[in-house]
Amino acid sequence: MAEVKTLQALFGGTFDPVHYGHLKPVEALANLIGLAKVIIMPNNVPPHRPQPEASSAQRKAMLELAIADRPLFTLDERELRRDAPSYTASTLKAWREEQGPDAPLAFIIGQDSLLTFPDWHDYETILDNTHLIVCRRPGYPLKMAQARHQRWLERHLTHTPEALHHLPAGKIYLAETPWFAISASLIRERLENGEPCDDLLPDAVLDYINQQGLYR
Ligand code: ATP
Repeated sequence: MAEVKTLQALFGGTFDPVHYGHLKPVEALANLIGLAKVIIMPNNVPPHRPQPEASSAQRKAMLELAIADRPLFTLDERELRRDAPSYTASTLKAWREEQGPDAPLAFIIGQDSLLTFPDWHDYETILDNTHLIVCRRPGYPLKMAQARHQRWLERHLTHTPEALHHLPAGKIYLAETPWFAISASLIRERLENGEPCDDLLPDAVLDYINQQGLYR
């Protein structure tokens, strides 16, 4: 009998720091479409982009604290370990090579990232290797700025999560996840101004930020 492959999903980002706007939509997504595991992959930020305020080790430590009591998530340190920036397209290509041609693989992004997605290096090749699952995020339209990018989106769009499970790659799914008006920049700004952040991120992460004197 043919082996049944389960859909695996990877969620990348800077996580400076990780917050509920990352964790809660993805947990809701997992329930909506049936995901047993989500791999969080913190990135290395290219030198020409604003650098994270927390070091790689601190971003990793915060993620470990955030997922300690969230069994859905595991951490993949490959980009951090490489200690040099890597393009998402190449990371996902390597992941595909590891998993074989038939494994259903997905990359999760927020709605804001979908809008900038066509600026990503080799963005069109990403769908050769994975699906793209988009979580809702308040404040961003669901329409691409350029007509050709909107056509690209519509060409790959699926309205049925089953397609993500049955095909190895190539589909874009706009998931109806709950909205969270939280961003890492909002948290950094609030901490800098000495304002409370209790409902925005897990207590253990906030305690760590305070212990380390981060974002002051
Ligand atoms: P910053 O404010 O520093 O730009 P951020 O909060 O957007 O950071 P990132 O680490 O850059 O966090 O995001 C990682 C991924 O999580 C991206 O795909 C982003 O779109 C998504 N994401 C972040 N916050 C939310 C949110 N509130 N709702 C849905 N998706 C989100």
